[in-house]
Amino acid sequence: QWIFLGGQFVKKEDAVVSVYDHGFLYGDGVFEGIRVYSGNVFRMAEHVQRLYESAQSIMLNIPYTKEEMVQIIVDTIKKNQLDSAYIRVVVSRGMGNLGLDPASCSQPRVIVIAEKLALFPQELYQRGLRIGSVASRRSSPDVLSPQVKSLNYLNNILVKLEANQAGVDEALMLNAQGYVTEGSADNIFIVKNGVIITPPVYLGALDGITRNAIIDLANKNGYELKETPFTRHDVYVADEVFLTGTAVEVIAVIEVDGRKIQDGKPGPVTNYLLSEFRKLVTTDGVQ
Ligand code: PLP
Repeated sequence: QWIFLGGQFVKKEDAVVSVYDHGFLYGDGVFEGIRVYSGNVFRMAEHVQRLYESAQSIMLNIPYTKEEMVQIIVDTIKKNQLDSAYIRVVVSRGMGNLGLDPASCSQPRVIVIAEKLALFPQELYQRGLRIGSVASRRSSPDVLSPQVKSLNYLNNILVKLEANQAGVDEALMLNAQGYVTEGSADNIFIVKNGVIITPPVYLGALDGITRNAIIDLANKNGYELKETPFTRHDVYVADEVFLTGTAVEVIAVIEVDGRKIQDGKPGPVTNYLLSEFRKLVTTDGVQ
């Protein structure tokens, strides 16, 4: 396996970074997770755009143009002869001294990893997930925007730990006002009386690329779709609940905080959107 690191391809065993890298010392950097389906990089332009916007927000200069970054990603996939893959792009502030001031870091470090896809087990899509709300709150947009996919994912890790402790598959993250925002690494949708509803991103959710693909699909297929704030109660009494994300694609939720969602089986809207999504992913991107 070949990793793009420091401007060249190095073997996985040799792909190591300095302990003085501020990505390691302080979580100072940004990242993206991207999927390749049968040689098609799904929504490449959107992922690269979000990476550069995350970097712009934290004043990190990526030392490549977006076009060059696209080429690096494509080259990494080719170099590893992958057909279906998960890509991780990481840009850290680079090496500096032990102080947290980014001014000591001279050169951002760009890493691209392309891995054979570890698929989520198919049974999980058929069964659906059990999720639970957690005490940790989504970091507030006035501190660090939820739109920045920074290397500092402690907030998300804490909610994942809480979910693990509670013995559920995924966490349901609320904001400080108690409105539902998203999961630890996925967006949430509910379906009520035929209307598909997802929280507006300003409440504290990432503007997910899968989320947007599902919004497009819902609109195209004649569903009514609303971006409206809702609470846990609305989730408990929904007809269907599902999560979306690059890793998880579209997955049903069948239980929330011990409340069974309807008959406890993935619903028809979720199943339909998953099947439409799987048709879309091999066409909508860069070959
Ligand atoms: N929310 C968070 C916090 C995430 O890290 C992710 C994963 O990227 C998502 C949602 C889903 O976004 P996307 O569909 O762009 O992968």
